Amino acid sequence: MIQVYTGNGKGKTTAAFGLALRAAGAGLNVYIAQFLKGRDCSEHKALKKIKNIKLEQFGRGCFIRCKYQQIDMKLTRQGLEKVKKVITSRNYHVVILDEINVVLKLKFLSFKDILSLIKCTPENIELVFTGRGAPAQLIKKADLVSQIREVKHYYKRGIKARKGIEF
Ligand code: ATP
Ligand code: MG
Repeated sequence: MIQVYTGNGKGKTTAAFGLALRAAGAGLNVYIAQFLKGRDCSEHKALKKIKNIKLEQFGRGCFIRCKYQQIDMKLTRQGLEKVKKVITSRNYHVVILDEINVVLKLKFLSFKDILSLIKCTPENIELVFTGRGAPAQLIKKADLVSQIREVKHYYKRGIKARKGIEF
């Protein structure tokens, strides 16, 4: 199945991590590729304690307030190649591509790249795509799409990202 968590509201990445937790509890192996991110978020410290969840980052750690460069595209490509290996290894049941929708928006990868990834994914692997602005083609292809709408967000009142809540 292909799941997509998108929209401007808060809760896409944490929803995916919630699914990872549930899957790991059921004995499934989970692989998480975080695109565009490269710093140690608090959730990583927690996930490291769970032996059947593996998380890797393919970014520089300046997500949101970032001036993206060539290196970000290169890291993204490396991430895609790694995800392909993970999928074809068949060692993982749930594969999460965190912020991949943002990668597509930035045109660091094309939808063709995603299609080829989907094509090499066996039926029994759950593929999860997160990030704002999922493209229409991905929404069409997906089996499940959750659009998280921002009704209110404290950052608009100037509240900065808080450890343990945003990272
Ligand atoms: P979460 O990781 O909490 O589940 P998300 O994945 O839905 O959120 P993203 O769009 O990936 O949200 O943004 C990452 C985090 O940064 C979110 O927690 C979000 O609330 C916060 N955020 C988004 N925009 C801003 C902003 N302009 N200033 C400060 N924080 C922001
Ligand atoms: Mg996110």
